[in-house]
Amino acid sequence: MTKERIYLFDTTLRDGQQTPGIDFSVEDKIAIATMLDEFGIDYVEGGYPGANPTDTSFFSEKRTQKSSFVAFGMTKRAGVSASNDPGLASLIQAKSDAICFVAKSWDYHVEVALGISNQENLDCIAESVKAAVAAGKEAMVDCEHFFDGYKANPAYALDCARTAYEAGARWVVLCDTNGGTQPPEVRAIVESVIAHGIPGRCLGIHAHNDTGQAIANSLAAVDAGVRQVQGTLNGIGERCGNANLVTLIPTLALKNSYNEFYEMAIDAERLQGLTGLSHAFDELLNRSPDHQAPYVGASAFATKAGIHASALLKDPRTYEHVPPESVGNFRKVMVSDQGGKANFINALKRRGIEVSKDDPKLDMLISIVKEREASGYAYEGADASFELLARRTLGTIPEFFAIDGFRVMVERRFDSHGRIKVVSEAVVKIVIDGQTLMSVAEAEGPVNALDLALRKDFGKYQHEIDDLVLADFKVRILNGGTEAITRVLIESIDSSGVRWWTVGVSENIIDASFQALMDSVIYKLMKNRHMAGRIAAE
Ligand SMILES: [Zn+2]
Repeated sequence: MTKERIYLFDTTLRDGQQTPGIDFSVEDKIAIATMLDEFGIDYVEGGYPGANPTDTSFFSEKRTQKSSFVAFGMTKRAGVSASNDPGLASLIQAKSDAICFVAKSWDYHVEVALGISNQENLDCIAESVKAAVAAGKEAMVDCEHFFDGYKANPAYALDCARTAYEAGARWVVLCDTNGGTQPPEVRAIVESVIAHGIPGRCLGIHAHNDTGQAIANSLAAVDAGVRQVQGTLNGIGERCGNANLVTLIPTLALKNSYNEFYEMAIDAERLQGLTGLSHAFDELLNRSPDHQAPYVGASAFATKAGIHASALLKDPRTYEHVPPESVGNFRKVMVSDQGGKANFINALKRRGIEVSKDDPKLDMLISIVKEREASGYAYEGADASFELLARRTLGTIPEFFAIDGFRVMVERRFDSHGRIKVVSEAVVKIVIDGQTLMSVAEAEGPVNALDLALRKDFGKYQHEIDDLVLADFKVRILNGGTEAITRVLIESIDSSGVRWWTVGVSENIIDASFQALMDSVIYKLMKNRHMAGRIAAE
């Protein structure tokens, strides 16, 4: 049986940009378009040329090699001809391969938002599509509020879709703009559209995630016959986001319900770049990846219960719905106080540490981990600290440096303008090869000052930690009151793109932070020497 082709349409740069707190520069847009193009997305929608200077400049050149580069904009206004509409002109002039027009398909919006007649709206759709096709562009029409419009006035919603198709649109995209439509409704409405003469090979779905079902709605539409799916990287988008392509793509590629019938431009080899793509995008947004993200999250293939861990190692298929390496992720067996001896041995083995189950040092490590977890450490979220603890207990870690001590002062005072100012100053003394190095640094926050001072002068190791960046810092108070225990988790990253997590626990938040910082630096020095970090680097 020949498989039918599913086309992927990415709207990260347009609909994704509606996410609160996200605003792409032209450089960001170029970087993201390149990532999508190289990954194998069929259509990359770049934004709204003519609407703002960023998008106009972004569309001054074609930004993709293989992907079709798509400009987005309104259909022409009523009352002017297509050739006299400045908005349409700037869309046609944009250096894009395709134009995606947004059109109203709910008669209520045509009347209230546009203030024109239903027929005028249909004429605008037809003439805009014809003008784009005449200019040599692939035309598509996003039918806004299609599902709600269909429920209110099915005949008119169908008229809008049919008008776009008959005017020559390659794709008619059915949008669940409010995100409230349910999968059975999506399926029934798509089936009705196809029954009314618009073939599924020309239909697309654009789903929002307001009931957590953007993926389910997209798949329901595919089942009913649509062959283009729209979405965004990591599901960004306004309100609750758009359909997440990072979840949708592996589902279509790896699940028999879909891969027996459909194929995409993304083959098995490209799919292995999925975790990297998702994390690189978070990196660009300057945020930490979601550990629980389907397929690509750090916890997606993690297990911590001892009984599961030993069975998992015997036959991973019994506990994993797809092989983690198929999406570029990896299996993670976590250490926790629920874990048995087999769990520990396997966790160590994955880090390249061999230990026999009769080795008394193993029992010592297990009791240290249990004791520390009881006092507040959380090693399952801090793989690098666990590895350092294991290597210290079982073998040796080179003594790169010693800490002679540190001091942090926090001062709250008035500046010369009479405004309150809080400054922190940190002094750190480290010893390398018998020589004491003392560094002082100032910052607003005490942990920041301490980090700056710690990494200011590392003697002969300085160049080795230049690319170490603290990506995230989480503080958790473990029991209430002023004598609370504080746990600090630090996520670090270096220029190789590898991330690792370290932990510190203390009654003092600065001390807890210092422990986690120290572990991060030592781990980095070990990693540089290929003495650690096997799991993170895989
Ligand atoms: Zn949308």
